[in-house]
Amino acid sequence: MKLSERLARLGTETAFEVLVRARALEAQGRSVIHLEIGEPDFDTPSHITDAAVEALKGGATHYGPSAGIPDLRLAIAEDSTARRGVKVTPEMVVVTPGGKPIMFYVILALVDPGDEVLYPNPGFPIYESMIRFIGGVPVPVRLLEEKGYALDVDQLISKITAKTKLIILNYPHNPTGGIIPEAGLRAIADAAVQHRIPVLADEIYSQILYEGKHVSISTMPGMEALAIVLDGFSKTYAMTGWRLGYGIMPAPLAQVIAKLQTNAVSCTATFTQMAGVKALRGDHSGVHAMVAEFKRRRDAIVDGLREIPGFKCPRPQGAFYVFPNITGTGFPAKPLADRLLDEAGVACLSGTAFGEWGEGHLRFSYANSLDNIQEALKRIKACLAKSS
Ligand code: PMP
Repeated sequence: MKLSERLARLGTETAFEVLVRARALEAQGRSVIHLEIGEPDFDTPSHITDAAVEALKGGATHYGPSAGIPDLRLAIAEDSTARRGVKVTPEMVVVTPGGKPIMFYVILALVDPGDEVLYPNPGFPIYESMIRFIGGVPVPVRLLEEKGYALDVDQLISKITAKTKLIILNYPHNPTGGIIPEAGLRAIADAAVQHRIPVLADEIYSQILYEGKHVSISTMPGMEALAIVLDGFSKTYAMTGWRLGYGIMPAPLAQVIAKLQTNAVSCTATFTQMAGVKALRGDHSGVHAMVAEFKRRRDAIVDGLREIPGFKCPRPQGAFYVFPNITGTGFPAKPLADRLLDEAGVACLSGTAFGEWGEGHLRFSYANSLDNIQEALKRIKACLAKSS
């Protein structure tokens, strides 16, 4: 079968490939500690699961509106207004199967072949994949390791041209756990408003933040016409497998995005959306307990990695990833990640899975138990001691 030309430009998310390799080793009887995949290891809180079961039993098994059921759009609008501090109405909300489709839909809606898109590097690999896939020109913007992996705002602004049609930001950030300080967001917002460039703000980790308060670029002057916020239930409510996310954007764009959704998947599963209403309006003690536990694990893994010769590890403020600099080990990132999996049974990702400026780094997800994290640290240390 002859594949389309554009398919040669499609990238992927290495985490899923490493997971398959790790599972194959486990099938051979090897012990593997999974620090590769970006999902909470907690179960979805039971009141949310119960709401889905009730919805199913009540007959919520039919198609719904493409933009999402009215109850959930309203609940998301209220939640976002309260959390971000800027007015959101239900007409600005589109519910999608996971947050990821918002990337695809927004890039499809706003970028023509030859248009430029600014995005973080290292960064979530799907941004670059989608930009290339639709024929856009990816323009990477570096993160500054010495500044806790904050985006280099001056570099971003210097890369704006007449062809820039979209700026993608992600805070807290995958793979580094870094944030963009408020002053940086303000400078980016000013530039976006001046040049009339939409900003896709991937805030999927906005509630997995250990220090400070989440600030959204959507709250800044002039951004009401330009901000598109991506958020969802996967990380905050440990609902990765449910596939439930959303975008918040100016209402006319929301109509276009809903039309793309009509073409792609018709709508998001109705009973899942009803569980989403319960998640937003119900008890949040489980979310708070999960974030407190992630903070303990962050401290354990950062402290542990700092003791490994050749590793330098900043302490990230959010998400559940660390991104140590491993250049001191003398190994490039990919061979080291492969070696840790094959020899030590520790699955992690090479920084290069997040773009060329991820070289010299590994990404560990600490969405795993403290015991497993401690065991992984021991194994990494022993493996490196053996090879030095
Ligand atoms: N954005 C970022 C930065 C992510 O890391 C992820 C998930 N790994 C997503 C979006 C997508 O989340 P979802 O599972 O809701 O599609």
